[in-house]
Amino acid sequence: MTNARMDETPLRILNRVFGFDRFRGAQAEIIDLVIDGGDALVLMPTGGGKSLCYQIPALLRPGTGIVVSPLIALMQDQVDALTQLGVRAAFLNSSLTPDKARAVEQALQAGSLDLLYVAPERLLTERFEDLLDRIPVALFAIDEAHCVSQWGHDFRPEYIQLDRLHTRWPQVPRIALTATADTPTRNEIVTRLSLGQARQFVSSFDRPNIRYRIVEKANPRQQLLAFLRREHPEDAGIVYCLSRRRVEETATFLQDHDFPALPYHAGLPADTRRAHQARFLREEGVVMVATIAFGMGIDKPDVRFVAHLDLPKSLEAYYQETGRAGRDGQPADAWMTYGIGDVVMLRRIIEDSDADEQFKRIELHKLDGMLGYCETTECRRQVMLNYFGETLPKPCGNCDTCQEPVETWDGTLAAQMALSCIYRTGQRFGSAYLVDVLLGKSLERIRRFGHDRVSTYGIGKAVEGKPMSADQWRSVYRQLVAAGLIAVDMEGHGALKLTEQSRPLLRGERAIRLRRDPERKSGTSSRTPV
Ligand code: ADP
Ligand code: ZN
Repeated sequence: MTNARMDETPLRILNRVFGFDRFRGAQAEIIDLVIDGGDALVLMPTGGGKSLCYQIPALLRPGTGIVVSPLIALMQDQVDALTQLGVRAAFLNSSLTPDKARAVEQALQAGSLDLLYVAPERLLTERFEDLLDRIPVALFAIDEAHCVSQWGHDFRPEYIQLDRLHTRWPQVPRIALTATADTPTRNEIVTRLSLGQARQFVSSFDRPNIRYRIVEKANPRQQLLAFLRREHPEDAGIVYCLSRRRVEETATFLQDHDFPALPYHAGLPADTRRAHQARFLREEGVVMVATIAFGMGIDKPDVRFVAHLDLPKSLEAYYQETGRAGRDGQPADAWMTYGIGDVVMLRRIIEDSDADEQFKRIELHKLDGMLGYCETTECRRQVMLNYFGETLPKPCGNCDTCQEPVETWDGTLAAQMALSCIYRTGQRFGSAYLVDVLLGKSLERIRRFGHDRVSTYGIGKAVEGKPMSADQWRSVYRQLVAAGLIAVDMEGHGALKLTEQSRPLLRGERAIRLRRDPERKSGTSSRTPV
């Protein structure tokens, strides 16, 4: 578009250039602030409309708006879309040939760009900074600002340097934007980017049309198949798995059962990934089975479900991944299978990583947030939003715990049995074995260790006269692990150990209420590996 005219207003630009009637949420306020030269920190969920918050001020302020973005793959799309609307936009990143890059720099110098998208490592070169000194800059937009945070899920070291924008061009307004909502990340963005003076705009992160549900993991693939057949036989959706191997196996399994499923993970050739992504976007009813490598920037409005066969490592990650469902506002499902094996596996991955202790502590803390969500007997949406510092005054009515309230029971005695069984067998075994001991199974392995003679052998057949199944015992162990009364020993192949916190319970000084997981229908039961 040609240079801004004096009589232009944000609303007119919104109508004329972008073709929308009115602003959404805080957009108008944010835009006014930035046009007046103020700094802003914008927290808005994906799809909330962050882009306009810097695009419109860039069109109304003199000079070029510089947009920092880590997502090289998306710059092209953004720029294409803007160009179509008649906005003079370009991008600079490592995907351009030197000739192309030079042409963009010349356009920038000539003042013929409204918006320029730049990768952070490119922006922070001496050469580019000198260039910026010679032109009027309308604003700096720092997209995906959570990349500056080590607490966040997507740390990029180059982002730390972006603080320089402020010291070198103090008069240029800055607007940082992110869809990552948790308070620690937010605080880190403010500190690291010196945004203490910036006004914060926090939108609600609630996605009311998404129904959240968790089922106890038994035979995840069969459970998934049943879920798809029952509720989404023809719908497009995403199935997330932790490992590449599981992605491949699950995709094949669904294909064998006549679902148009495609695998996606970082180990596949780039061509294959591109082709699968294109089919997912273009065709109807494709089920993408993927690792977390899939999804960033995927804008498909009619994704009807996001299923997790494995536990994500944080609630933040879960929110982002499930947030890809129901962008069109129509009902959508966030469905997950969850079992003790997931907790063991994720703890092990964190403990075994080469990261420093501080980082591991953060990761374990985040995992606890995720477990709190899984084990809650209250409204899941309330737990989730609460984690993001937001309060939902009433239970949502659109999650499993709202729709089928969870029964709880006094699990004190059962927990004591479960804990002493760990103790009596030397804190060297996983939950599957412990459950066998509690139920007094006649197994050669148990006899070999002499555990058919410990006091807890067979005491778990019933608790207070009520018979207990293996499923129920596994649920007890899972909840005790999630509550921190039992730790998982990473060196000991997932052996369960007692923690300090288990003592009051063992001494009878505290009680514990447990959730009663619904009994599984026969046929789907299988032993959860630990
Ligand atoms: P985000 O960056 O927050 O994920 P986008 O900026 O990509 O979101 O916007 C999401 C979608 O909403 C886009 O298709 C955009 O054109 C549309 N949109 C944004 N603001 C408005 C508005 N005021 N009215 C109508 N549609 C809008
Ligand atoms: Zn609810």
